[in-house]
Amino acid sequence: MIYFSTNKSSVPVSIKKATLEGLAPDGGLYVPSEIPRFSAPELQLLEEGNFSDIAFAIAKKFIGDEMPPDRLGDLIESCYPFDTPLVRLSENTFVEELFSGPTLAFKDYGARFLARLTGYFASEDNRLITVLVATSGDTGSAVAYGFQGIPNTRVVLLYPSGKVSYLQEQQLTTAGGNVHALEVQGDFDDCQRLVKQAFVDPDLKKKLTLTSANSINISRLIPQSFYYAWASLHLKSAYGLENPVFSVPSGNYGNLTAGILARMMGFPIGHFVAASNANDSVTRYLKDGRYEPKPTVTTLSTAMDVGNPSNFARLRHLYNNDCHAMADDITGISVSDEATRETIRNIFSQYDYVLDPHTAVGFRALETYRTASGSLAPGIVLSTAHPAKFLEVIEEVLGMRVNIPERLADVLEKEKQSTLIGAGYDDLVDFLKHLDQ
Ligand SMILES: *Cc1c(COP(=O)(O)O)cnc(C)c1O
Repeated sequence: MIYFSTNKSSVPVSIKKATLEGLAPDGGLYVPSEIPRFSAPELQLLEEGNFSDIAFAIAKKFIGDEMPPDRLGDLIESCYPFDTPLVRLSENTFVEELFSGPTLAFKDYGARFLARLTGYFASEDNRLITVLVATSGDTGSAVAYGFQGIPNTRVVLLYPSGKVSYLQEQQLTTAGGNVHALEVQGDFDDCQRLVKQAFVDPDLKKKLTLTSANSINISRLIPQSFYYAWASLHLKSAYGLENPVFSVPSGNYGNLTAGILARMMGFPIGHFVAASNANDSVTRYLKDGRYEPKPTVTTLSTAMDVGNPSNFARLRHLYNNDCHAMADDITGISVSDEATRETIRNIFSQYDYVLDPHTAVGFRALETYRTASGSLAPGIVLSTAHPAKFLEVIEEVLGMRVNIPERLADVLEKEKQSTLIGAGYDDLVDFLKHLDQ
């Protein structure tokens, strides 16, 4: 399998190069030259499989002979030592809980796979890869815990001092070992500016191999197709239900793009609902074919506050820029903060189940889609985060406290380890120069 850039002016590369580079040199996103297909007999066999079996079968098609199969098998096992529960709320409605990983959000699925793949490829060349990320919260913690202890890698995280929640800061600063947290005296834009400057600094390039770990990396996207594939097959084998509609709480649209990949591979998926908050650039595109990104607005579902989604180029590529073809498969629905609060309240009183604000957007969008289309298909809402990550919102809306899972409580008790730096580029370079080589 080879990978080429959505901008089509860089040379095609292997999965190794695509993983270690992240973004293609022409500024485009890497996409596979063709989407691997699963035949009917292959799918039938996988129906009997568990999550790891399905993940392995998919990863193998994308990685080909760039890694020995037994190594890939071990890698998958060490990525996902936790469950992916499919909770049945009613006859026809399910919540796929993607928050059982170390940071209680779905980004663990992508980050843990990317980290292990990066470590493997770096070790082949005996290289040390430095992952540089600017974060305003959730991506950073998944990357920190994803790369924690992975040989041949280290992480430098930049986050804005005083601008992340206590819980987020604890998650960002307690991984330790090969993960270094830099508390920048500036805002998130300063952190991003520093990282961008480092990536184009020729002097730094001579000393360090830098890579990024944001959602544009193809090796963060591939593993996100695992849980769509697994749920679509498990729904069939365990409940006799077929061709579900997935409702996907979306921000940068990486998660949705991974779902489209799973469907194109042949997994039995009926339709997608792209659930957004007030940041509705893609929702509007799906209605009228015009893409007009707007400045980001702040909502209750903060991890989805994205005005110009980075994975949209990849999504368009998969549909050859054909808006009608995309709209046949994906219905875009935007959900207000008021409707999000109402959904958290309704679902709690109806099912005694607590939705985090992002999952609530997904739930509401599924309901709206069903009402508008009359669809009777089974629905699966992806739950992208544990409600305990958004304690303040839940307490405000439901007037009660949420139980904090043990793995989060542990992190809250650890000692914060971070280095305070100024917002100037020299401050970052100074820190990087003093890291052990
Ligand atoms: C990142 C994130 C999203 C959005 O996912 P995309 O792949 O960027 O669309 C949704 N919910 C939560 C909790 C997230 O952290």
